[in-house]
Amino acid sequence: MRVAAIDYELCKPSKCGLECIRFCPVNRMGSKAIELSPSVGGKPVIYEDTCIGCGICVKKCPFKAISVVNLPEELEEEAVHRYGVNGFKLFRLPTPRRGKILGIIGKNGTGKTTALRILAGELKPNLGRIGEEASWDDVLEHYRGTELYDYFKLIVNGRMRVAHKIQHVDRVARYVKGSVRELLGRADERGLASELAEKLGLKEIWDRDIRKLSGGELQKLLIAAVVSKDAEAYFFDEPSSYLDVRERIRVAKIISTMLPANKYILVVEHDLAILDYLSDLISIIYGEPGVYGIVSRPYGSRAGINHFLTGYLPAENMRIRPTPIRFHVRASAPAKSSAPQTYLEWSSMEVRLGSFTLSIEGGEALRGEVVGIVGPNGIGKTTFIRVLAGEVKPIKGSVTCSGLEMSYKPQYVSPDMYEGKTVEEVLRDANPNSLASGSWLYTELIRKLGLPRLLERDASSLSGGELQKLAVAEALAREADIYLLDEPSAYLDVEERLTVARIIRRLTEARGITAFVVEHDVSIQDFIADRLMVFRGEPGIRGEASRPLSLRQGMNTFLKDLAVTFRRDPETGRPRINKEGSHLDRLQKKKGEYYYAV
Ligand code: ADP
Ligand code: ADP
Ligand code: SF4
Ligand code: SF4
Repeated sequence: MRVAAIDYELCKPSKCGLECIRFCPVNRMGSKAIELSPSVGGKPVIYEDTCIGCGICVKKCPFKAISVVNLPEELEEEAVHRYGVNGFKLFRLPTPRRGKILGIIGKNGTGKTTALRILAGELKPNLGRIGEEASWDDVLEHYRGTELYDYFKLIVNGRMRVAHKIQHVDRVARYVKGSVRELLGRADERGLASELAEKLGLKEIWDRDIRKLSGGELQKLLIAAVVSKDAEAYFFDEPSSYLDVRERIRVAKIISTMLPANKYILVVEHDLAILDYLSDLISIIYGEPGVYGIVSRPYGSRAGINHFLTGYLPAENMRIRPTPIRFHVRASAPAKSSAPQTYLEWSSMEVRLGSFTLSIEGGEALRGEVVGIVGPNGIGKTTFIRVLAGEVKPIKGSVTCSGLEMSYKPQYVSPDMYEGKTVEEVLRDANPNSLASGSWLYTELIRKLGLPRLLERDASSLSGGELQKLAVAEALAREADIYLLDEPSAYLDVEERLTVARIIRRLTEARGITAFVVEHDVSIQDFIADRLMVFRGEPGIRGEASRPLSLRQGMNTFLKDLAVTFRRDPETGRPRINKEGSHLDRLQKKKGEYYYAV
């Protein structure tokens, strides 16, 4: 079985000479595997039953619009859903279980949201049949004798009420009006709104208009609203985006302790530590982004995440990635080829901006080093970098060098930043060299982030993840002395996060500069940072920045404040949150080793 997918946004029949159709060997033999069709606006369709999967059209298309992929042989069943003739195809579904939290992990574009929408009853699966609508009876018949039968029966009988926290929280303000109080009041069927608001720090913004909330505030509000509902199933699509570490852990605790017993709970999440902490079971979605996705069986949470990282699913005997992802245990900065050289130095400093004060401990950054930054929003992280760059003058203390050029990727990347520009123009403006094929920037940065196929697209039309990758590429392509990347992993999946982390490390080393990276995903911070700066205080009022500490010391300082301990998974090296009050948690707290216990 194979899947042929065409990305109709990329396909431009008027500009390509219809090479895909002209060179198809099946067409040349007088049969039809690919032809233009009015059903897709005069663009090509590929007939999977006559196509022999030679891949010639894939190579010939100048816009890389076609993918033809052979499916794993083990896959015997028909699809659950397909978006159009040559659209994305989803096989199998996650199986929610009463009273259990089922975590879902996988690359972007492999059907996680589609699966959630089907299980929420928002999208009726067409069982892969295009042109005829499958009925709910067909769907029930398809699932007869499986665990999902009873689940779908509830949907069909109108008894499945699902409370669904959607992925893109920033879109909510467009169709929901009112204040935080009003929205939570409307959602509050379980009488929990006030307690949730207290726990999530929403009381301080109780009367604020939803349109004025930041991404993190919207995220917390929607999670509180969903938890307040009296539903049969609760779905959370990426609950940790925009939240800092403390908030992520708080949200994870709320989801795992405050929902009613015996309900169906599903969570899609890319922060491995949070997903691991939350889930009882894990299903992995694998496949080819935009082409097809296959949902794995449920595994126990530790095993599921480890299988995902090692790239092999034992129950289905399936390799999903050629090489494993490993986290390396580093107690201090890794040895560089030459002795570390100080790149920047600052004395103890004090900064005042309006009513906000920031105290900075004296410190230094080394050439080729990635300094991780942790701390809540509004605590002075950006202000600190602006001081280093000489844009903000401290009222006390100083930085040794001046006039440094700074390149910045802000936390929130909005499409308006790129209004009227194509992806190509954005990158060319940042650095013309970044697009010269063969140049290092092009191979290491632009291509690794998968940007070449987007070059002609209007940058303001990109999806959240694509926009993030463009903003990271733009910031790193610029020639600068200091780089500040504020949440480079927002909206990216695990593999994309690690790709971005590797690129940041490599560029920093090669250029002999320092990159500061604000990151709230502990696994990624662990992977990327040589040393760590910890920002504490009261957001918006007063911040205190530590000097760059060793990763272990930094994490210890930071996690002690949160009263959370981490251990390492022996198989993959990934950091795992200890359950509160567990033997290890108590032992590590007693020893003062909040991180890195063996
Ligand atoms: P994920 O949540 O894993 O990122 P999605 O379920 O959102 O994946 O999407 C999987 C694929 O299906 C993507 O390639 C996406 O472009 C495509 N897709 C999603 N929704 C639609 C739709 N309404 N029509 C056509 N294609 C869609
Ligand atoms: P972070 O990067 O940690 O989110 P920032 O450094 O951007 O935090 O901001 C810290 C605090 O300083 C915030 O409360 C912000 O509103 C305030 N602030 C930032 N710039 C200015 C300014 N130019 N004038 C007054 N207050 C500012
Ligand atoms: Fe034709 Fe080969 Fe493309 Fe199939 S893969 S449509 S047979 S060119
Ligand atoms: Fe042209 Fe590629 Fe579209 Fe075929 S798929 S019509 S080659 S743009």
